[in-house]
Amino acid sequence: MVKEYGILIGGKWVKSNSGETFDNVNPANERVIAKFQSGTPDDVNRAVDAAEKALGYWRDFPAPKRGEILLKAAQLLRKDKERLARLMTMEMGKVIAEARGDVQEAIDITEYMAGEGRRLFTQTTPSELRDKFCTSVRIPVGIFGLITPWNFPVAIPSWKITPALICGNTMIFKPASDTPLCAIEFVKILEKAGVPKGVINLVTGSGSKVGSAIVKHKKIRGISFTGSREVGEFVTKEAGLKKVGLELGGKNGIIVMDDADLELALDGVIWGGYGTTGQRCTAASRVIVHHKIKAKFERMLVSRIKRLRLGDGLKPTTDVGPQINAKAVEKTHEYTGIGIKEGAKLLCGGKPAKINGKGFFYRPTLFTDVAPDMRIAQEEIFGPSISMIPVKTLDEAIDVMNGIIYGLSSAIYTNDLKNAFESIERIEAGLTYVNSSTIGAEVHLPFGGIKGTGHAREAGWAGIEEFSDVKSVYVDYSGTLQRAQIDNVPGPRKKRK
Ligand code: NAP
Ligand code: MG
Repeated sequence: MVKEYGILIGGKWVKSNSGETFDNVNPANERVIAKFQSGTPDDVNRAVDAAEKALGYWRDFPAPKRGEILLKAAQLLRKDKERLARLMTMEMGKVIAEARGDVQEAIDITEYMAGEGRRLFTQTTPSELRDKFCTSVRIPVGIFGLITPWNFPVAIPSWKITPALICGNTMIFKPASDTPLCAIEFVKILEKAGVPKGVINLVTGSGSKVGSAIVKHKKIRGISFTGSREVGEFVTKEAGLKKVGLELGGKNGIIVMDDADLELALDGVIWGGYGTTGQRCTAASRVIVHHKIKAKFERMLVSRIKRLRLGDGLKPTTDVGPQINAKAVEKTHEYTGIGIKEGAKLLCGGKPAKINGKGFFYRPTLFTDVAPDMRIAQEEIFGPSISMIPVKTLDEAIDVMNGIIYGLSSAIYTNDLKNAFESIERIEAGLTYVNSSTIGAEVHLPFGGIKGTGHAREAGWAGIEEFSDVKSVYVDYSGTLQRAQIDNVPGPRKKRK
């Protein structure tokens, strides 16, 4: 019997009003893992009512005490790390070491946000008037809608839920339909740690029904969305005056200069391009390579790629797991066709694969002699496909790096400080790595992109700003009407009589 999971409304795991469920399958072997509720806009209404009821209580719950609940959650997550990591690999395919990293990221941010419960800083300033006190306080936004993708099924929800909680918001969480199990398990841990009922509500179901009902809901004040640019544009149009944070796609590049340590760059390109089977927003899908070392670097890459082993991510021998579903494989393969048609040279891969006749696998693919304006160098493929673009100078490399609509992550391999610092200054992206790959964000620094990647800044202190509002407070203790900009007379306070 396949297990059926509920949705969480006001502290109860219940069935959707639709009376329907959907299956989720393991992408490595296509076996059904479990059944999940096909949520409806009406389920979203019920969840919003529960979040509204819980808001006053949670807002008034002292922030350091909210922090204690998060700390407990971090401890529970730590205990459950291996179990969650294995579930994640089963549910979405990433290799087990990366799944452990995903859970670790959630532990890290949960601990970090627990500490923020004792800070939640704002600014206190002098006043231009005597006997007047100027400060500001941090307040919750209200009810948040959180919509997440499947590629970091515990980490991304944790980057949204934990700052939203510590800032005193209540929320409706809609996970991706490819990873509802990881989302449910994460939320169950938060419940066990003591998050009161109604504070987090979870509704599974399709983006077009549940997601869009959340985006449009009148009582929801904030939307935090991570996913594709197309849906990000829908959110921008439909969310109205809500506080919206968007984390969208990327077409991230690694520059490899002629003075680089090529072995180091090779490790970075393989990890960046084929880690999580190329399905990261920060995946290195473009390698912008100096022409002097191009031929050598190509040879090094091809020889390494040929040794990568495809397989079930639970096996310790697997280097590259499956893609998320059959549609994703189709999309990667379609881009292989496009690249060939555009005149790029396919050096390896370029084919779907099965293991024991099953699974959504795609062979790690490498194109070279790619022109910067080809579609394979411009559009997000979200699969294990890298485009090598040769350049002659650092200036040209930076122009290529910036010549896309996205602006998420970037990297440069060089031993020349001048190259490194010029890149830091001139690359248009939310992240630049020097001598390491395009992936590897840590939770205490801001994370996010610019341009077509959106505008959210999550994690670290930036995450607190994303999930709270600031109110300015003026306390006038002069006992007289003092008009700002009009009555500001310089000099010391008058002596008391
Ligand atoms: P997606 O198709 O945009 O889906 C993301 C989430 O939005 C899912 O929960 C989806 O629900 C939901 N959704 C779909 N249509 C919706 C609608 N009309 N209204 C509201 N919600 C809707 O993206 P994905 O394929 O899951 O994820 C891959 C994308 O995410 C890539 O572009 C990747 O670069 C990006 N990403 C960005 C970051 C970042 O931090 N910048 C991080 C990770 C991933 P269903 O699952 O039910 O369709
Ligand atoms: Mg699945």
